[in-house]
Amino acid sequence: MQFHSWTMKANFLRFVFLPFLCLAGVQALHAQEPAERIIVAYVTSWTETMPDVSLMTHINYAFGHVTDSFDGVRIDNVERLRRIADAKGKVKVCLSVGGWGSGRFSEMASTEARRKAFAASCAAAVDEYGLDGIDIDWEYPTVPAAGISASPRDTEHYTLLMKELRSALGPDRLLTLASACHARHIDFPAILPFVDWVNVMAYDMGRPPLHNAALYASPHTGRFTADEAVKSHLAAGVPADKIVMGMPFYGHGKEGYGDFVDYKDLPAPRSGHQALWDAEAKVPYYADAEGKPVLSFDNVRSIGEKCLYILKNGLRGGMYWEYGCDNGTAELARTVAEQLMPRPFISAKAVRPASYAGSQPRFRALLYYSEQVEEAHLDFTRQAITFFRELAFGRGFILDLATSLPEDLEPYDVIIMPDVAPSQPAERSRFERYMEAGGGWVGFHGAGYNDLSSNWDWFRNFLGGGRFLCNNWPPQPALMEVESRTHPVTRNLPQQFVAPESEYYQWDPDPRSNPSVQVLVSLSEANFPFGIKDVVFGGDFPVVWTNRDYRMIYLNMGHGSHCFSDATQNLLFVNALRWVVSQSSKGDPFLR
Ligand code: ZN
Repeated sequence: MQFHSWTMKANFLRFVFLPFLCLAGVQALHAQEPAERIIVAYVTSWTETMPDVSLMTHINYAFGHVTDSFDGVRIDNVERLRRIADAKGKVKVCLSVGGWGSGRFSEMASTEARRKAFAASCAAAVDEYGLDGIDIDWEYPTVPAAGISASPRDTEHYTLLMKELRSALGPDRLLTLASACHARHIDFPAILPFVDWVNVMAYDMGRPPLHNAALYASPHTGRFTADEAVKSHLAAGVPADKIVMGMPFYGHGKEGYGDFVDYKDLPAPRSGHQALWDAEAKVPYYADAEGKPVLSFDNVRSIGEKCLYILKNGLRGGMYWEYGCDNGTAELARTVAEQLMPRPFISAKAVRPASYAGSQPRFRALLYYSEQVEEAHLDFTRQAITFFRELAFGRGFILDLATSLPEDLEPYDVIIMPDVAPSQPAERSRFERYMEAGGGWVGFHGAGYNDLSSNWDWFRNFLGGGRFLCNNWPPQPALMEVESRTHPVTRNLPQQFVAPESEYYQWDPDPRSNPSVQVLVSLSEANFPFGIKDVVFGGDFPVVWTNRDYRMIYLNMGHGSHCFSDATQNLLFVNALRWVVSQSSKGDPFLR
């Protein structure tokens, strides 16, 4: 409620005073462009992973420290900092000075001479390594909790330090800070003129049985949540567009899970423990037999919720600690990038006339099919041809049909296979070459079918490694769970939908066990036992997935004449085609 009333007050003030300000000629308020959203990734000196710079706007390199003589900065692992600065591309890199247990700030900030010397040393490091600014992680002024020296005058000295740093760095370099969730110890109104934004460390707010980084309060949270941390900063005078909300890529555990657990090392729940989602706090956790958290962490879903919060509340952006904790496919960093990466602004001048869309097919698709398939697969194929032809109506794209794969597949941005994959060796190797060279594929149902007699290992691996295991029979409607709320293919779908009647395949091994596979839709457990004549009794049941090593998506529906009868499922099909095409190595044709 505090947040709400603060916003109301701010709006009220704006409403009452702005007209007078305008009359007084304060045009700058209007001239100012809204600040662009940012993603700040902490990258540490002690990890090896090189950050994927397409997933962030800023890197804070951790750490530098105040020197023993209190008058300069020294940097951990300068070789790694140099490598990161060399590879940064358009991303801006700041040196983060401090961190938990990094001291000597109090002594350094206490005299003007030392502040000046320290600030000059920071500015020199920025120049030497080609950096873009400095991030101060003094944890925390006036508090010796981390075993560092502290003084009651730290708050006052902190302000003077920020002023000195701004003067040494000049107006164009970045100066930011990491701030504790309660927003105490720092005089924000005094430092705001000198700093670009405030990184709020909205984590380590609890350890099991309390959550590490709940978004909202629940029976498993302590005094602070990420939401409270943001409200505290607003109340301390930091405007929303200077608040960057932190998110942890690690969790805290007990009872054998370890105190710090990186997302990449997330273990399965131990026996007697259960993986749960706290619907109030919006974070996942493992619980003991009594339902108490024993491991608290963040995953794609909770990070997605936090990004939505950042967007809804107009915050400047998101920060995370730290890139090296993410898994091999940078799943969490990707989630943040998908939601928070600033989109290019399209100016009125760049808008094309309507005739452009109608006169210029934007991409070329090939629909590969066969009439030599079982009747129910032929029904689906015929309807798929009609469906995709209608999508191409008005020559938005060119749809070619073929019952054998042409020699030259290069002109095609995507190949659609409604219910069959090639069986001839020449066509198979043509398809392999096409996909390995960055081709696009949307496959349905029978197109993915493979068993021991298929003799096409490349294709099985391409699909994620699974062979046909079993199926439901007869074809039935099924309740589907949408697993990703951030992926472009599923983000506008409801959490659950009923897919029209079809036959579904279960796979062995489970495609989900392949780290390159991202499952987007799966069959809900509520369907089990699934089938009448052939019954599937349980187990993981992915239905739609992508193998991230290729530009592909597989959708297991596609049996019989009902599959195009549901608007939600049709939207899924359109999204799937559109997403595969948009990833084209020739560039996104929808933006051309
Ligand atoms: Zn079938």
